[in-house]
Amino acid sequence: MIGAFVFLYGLVVGSFLNVCIHRLPRHESVVKPRSRCPQCSQPIAAYDNIPLVSYLLLRGRCRHCQARISPLYFFVELATGLLALFLYSVFGLTGSFAKAATLGAALLVLTVTDWRERLLPDRVTFPGMALGLVFSQIIPVEDGMGLFLTRLFGLDAIPVRLDSLFDSLLGALLGAGLLYLLGEAYFRLRGREGMGFGDVKMMAMVGFFLGPKLALLTIFLGATTGSVLGLLFIAASGKSSAYELPFGSFLGVAAMVAAVWGRTILQWYLGYFG
Ligand SMILES: [Zn+2]
Repeated sequence: MIGAFVFLYGLVVGSFLNVCIHRLPRHESVVKPRSRCPQCSQPIAAYDNIPLVSYLLLRGRCRHCQARISPLYFFVELATGLLALFLYSVFGLTGSFAKAATLGAALLVLTVTDWRERLLPDRVTFPGMALGLVFSQIIPVEDGMGLFLTRLFGLDAIPVRLDSLFDSLLGALLGAGLLYLLGEAYFRLRGREGMGFGDVKMMAMVGFFLGPKLALLTIFLGATTGSVLGLLFIAASGKSSAYELPFGSFLGVAAMVAAVWGRTILQWYLGYFG
């Protein structure tokens, strides 16, 4: 029963994420004006704006001018609903759920926007960084690196919140720093930009939420799947190797995997080699 509410809530959030995905790259407000048909500019009535249902009833067309509406609206709503339901099944109705769902919403917008427009808007990454820092004071990051470093400096016991603050800051610093270095190395080797500064800011956001270990895992997962799938895509589609990959999209999916299964993956990895 709660699951159904979480799913419906996810659909409504997904509806808003659609607005972000379509308006942020054009530097438009996400609050005003009300949604309009991009073809005939007729305002979309509330009863035609019901997540999933309206798209199906109108068969993906505008009620007034019959212009096609992108199926992306439908899929983003569905994906957000399913993601909310999935995170609820993992975390229950807890603070960890709120944290993962907030990160998930930001990542979904970034993943789709980078895929469509090769853009990672500051209006997502900057508020995302702030939210990650705020969440570190509510739900401990529990990375262990902050604690390790403070012990190194001879401090034995530090408050949980301070420890979590260190983890969050270290995550942003290491995540963004490593990605910046990778970008530089790629640029020196290939003589062209492989990733933009948007990816660096996105990784700062992920680091604030997840801490240094999971931020590094995110980069590892994103870079490996990105290069393998990217090469396969370039080979299959016959596009030139200068084709610009949506690296932020790979990072987005990787960060979500790290947020949910990251600790398990690291434990398995450390158990395997330790
Ligand atoms: Zn229309």
